[in-house]
Amino acid sequence: MYQRIRKPIVISTAILFHVLLIFHLFFSPVIIVMASNKSIINASFIAFVLMFVLSLFFGRAYCSWFCPGCGIQEILALFIKRKSKNSRALYIKYFIFSIWIGVIIFGYISNGIHKIDLTYGMSDITFERKVILTIGAIVLIVPLTTIFGKFASCKYICWQAPFMIIGTKIRDSINLNGLRIISHSEACNECKECTKICPMNLDVMENAKRGKCNNTECILCGNCIDHCKNRVLRFSFKKQNPAT
Ligand code: SF4
Ligand code: SF4
Repeated sequence: MYQRIRKPIVISTAILFHVLLIFHLFFSPVIIVMASNKSIINASFIAFVLMFVLSLFFGRAYCSWFCPGCGIQEILALFIKRKSKNSRALYIKYFIFSIWIGVIIFGYISNGIHKIDLTYGMSDITFERKVILTIGAIVLIVPLTTIFGKFASCKYICWQAPFMIIGTKIRDSINLNGLRIISHSEACNECKECTKICPMNLDVMENAKRGKCNNTECILCGNCIDHCKNRVLRFSFKKQNPAT
């Protein structure tokens, strides 16, 4: 049920991202670094702050419902069926994130903030930069996914994912209401359909049976919910620990 809504949305964001340059201004990890060195609050600064704030309420839902990278993954998933492993490579994204966010923070601290320019990065665009911006994401995503399996780039190198993982952890540590998957484990007949369909290769059945569906790699795509005939799994907008 959810996939009929989610997939068209996320594939559309991928297409728009690669067709309309304006999307790069909001999602480019490079333009924000340049902006921080010029004391400018740019469009992607606002987008990344918003992404973090939204993760306090919606966890990693952005990843599977709106991220252009996920849209490309969904297209690739039509051809690549092998799943990527949840190995120690998952930690690479935190390393990339730390360096990237460190450079941005250093830029703003050392240069200050002097102006807001939401179109920064648009005016001085050269043909080469346009090509790099347009194909850059594909060049990163396609080989990684082909070699390591479905959703490999989301799991291993995505610099945006840690924003939302940190936001989700903060939310749960202070026990705020938020979007999550909950399970009604008594109804599970151990068919494993949820585990088979999970694009992030999580052991969903085991998590559902333990009543712990809050894995940091869960992107809240809803595939497991859609495929569970016994309605064990569902979305909920509750606290992690409703008793408190
Ligand atoms: S799909 Fe539903 S019934 Fe089947 S293993 Fe998963 S949670 Fe249990
Ligand atoms: S656990 Fe369910 S919602 Fe989370 S990534 Fe896997 S299939 Fe999607």
